[in-house]
Amino acid sequence: MSETAAEPTAPLRARAEIDLGALRANVRALRARTPGAALMAVVKSDGYGHGAVPCARAALAAGATWLGTATPEEALALRAAGLPGPILCWLWVPGGPWRQAIEAGIDVSLSGMWALREAVAAARAAGRPARVQLKADTGLGRNGCQPGPDWAELVGEALRAEAEGLVRVTGLWSHFACADEPGHPSITAQLDRFREMLAYAEEQGVRPEVRHIANSPAALTLPETHFDLVRTGIALYGISPSPELGTPADFGLRPVMTLSASLALVKHVPGGHGVSYGHHYVTPGETTLGLVPVGYADGIPRHASGAGPVLVDGKWRTVAGRVAMDQFVVDLGGDEPAVGSEAVLFGPGDRGEPTAEDWAQACGTIAYEIVTRIGTRVPRVYVNGEEIG
Ligand SMILES: *Cc1c(COP(=O)(O)O)cnc(C)c1O
Repeated sequence: MSETAAEPTAPLRARAEIDLGALRANVRALRARTPGAALMAVVKSDGYGHGAVPCARAALAAGATWLGTATPEEALALRAAGLPGPILCWLWVPGGPWRQAIEAGIDVSLSGMWALREAVAAARAAGRPARVQLKADTGLGRNGCQPGPDWAELVGEALRAEAEGLVRVTGLWSHFACADEPGHPSITAQLDRFREMLAYAEEQGVRPEVRHIANSPAALTLPETHFDLVRTGIALYGISPSPELGTPADFGLRPVMTLSASLALVKHVPGGHGVSYGHHYVTPGETTLGLVPVGYADGIPRHASGAGPVLVDGKWRTVAGRVAMDQFVVDLGGDEPAVGSEAVLFGPGDRGEPTAEDWAQACGTIAYEIVTRIGTRVPRVYVNGEEIG
């Protein structure tokens, strides 16, 4: 990931400006909505495309106390960058870097017996206990241990390993399937199942530091799900988990990423001129075209062809024809903004620009995907990195 020091006026082909001040304010807004629970900043997938290390630092500065990643490699990279405090990672495969994680004091999530066996073997080799969190599948049907005999075996064997000093069971946790769909019956079903699985583990003698199930939508809208810790990802970055739940502003959140590019060409063309591969757009009359030098290699979805919105010179324009690997075109309707003018693909929206949610709707996806897929060829430019006042 190329990182650029804050030089907001640097003439870059394209840039993703990351407003760390907004991220800190989002953390504070989330803390205010989740009193009594600790906050885990989920910074997997390079902080949803925003840059894991700077976002993790900003989140901790604003009151988050845990960091969360999917893969152990992501967690190890945070530790290597000097980030302190507890870090949980939850997506393991056999042969993973268990020993390095244990030596780095990283909490490892276990969803089954194979993982417990690997963690125990690595703890023996490391000569120190593994911090393990047992993950329950309360109904998501993805990762996690099934209730019933599977859970009984995992809990029992983890307690045996704890008695031997090989593990410390630091957490019991789960993940929702439909927390972003208000009133979905699976929410209470999962919550009931979670309470039963917690009760069983605690009766057997597990004494976790944290019990947790809430992601961003649950943290924002379901207080009964907060337990000891909420794991927020998308909300940190100022994006609503779902437009049905509300806008970012409804939750006191502000989008952190602004994606923009410099127009690489502005030119006059006659009517009837095909535009971009396949000629799926043909100019309806004499007009001007602007060349926006980002494409699907930069993470602009090809599904945005003919649909994605862009603010150029105060007006919304639409991707004309196909998004190519490195560039796309907008029809400027005869306007002649200077070459090099800023084209804003998305941002917080308060300068009139589209938002990541607008792009998600144009592409038939979710805003999570829009920001996360922005590629490494786009430099991240960090602004408001220092706490002011
Ligand atoms: C990604 C993820 C989260 C964060 O989800 P958001 O909806 O972005 O808040 C929380 N927990 C787990 C297990 C995840 O994979």
